[in-house]
Amino acid sequence: MKLLKIDHIGIAVNDISQAKAFWTDVLGLNFEGDETVAEQKVKTAFFPVGESEVELLESTAADGPIAKYIEKKGQGIQHVAFGVENIDEALAELKEKGVRLIDETPRKGAGGARIAFLHPKATNGVLVELCER
Ligand code: ZN
Repeated sequence: MKLLKIDHIGIAVNDISQAKAFWTDVLGLNFEGDETVAEQKVKTAFFPVGESEVELLESTAADGPIAKYIEKKGQGIQHVAFGVENIDEALAELKEKGVRLIDETPRKGAGGARIAFLHPKATNGVLVELCER
């Protein structure tokens, strides 16, 4: 498997429209609009930084994964996403190595990316996302 770069860092927030002021007004990043991923019960907003991006995540439902995350741990960094050349190959390789996965097959992420999450129990507590664009 080939990791290309840190694609983005996912940050769970209560309210994107409120949280984005820091990233735009203070840090001077561009807000490229938000997108709702209905099946994940999440609204996302991306802010490019060089080759990587900051992704803000706001829950669209009280029982969504981001709402549950904030309930348990508060707002903050929720996952790290690595860009991969070929996500199917990467997942096959991880399975072969016995790595516990949340997604055995890729699902659809924001921006039409194909994404898959590794289980935090396999990564010393870090929720790792693989992302093929
Ligand atoms: Zn992500």
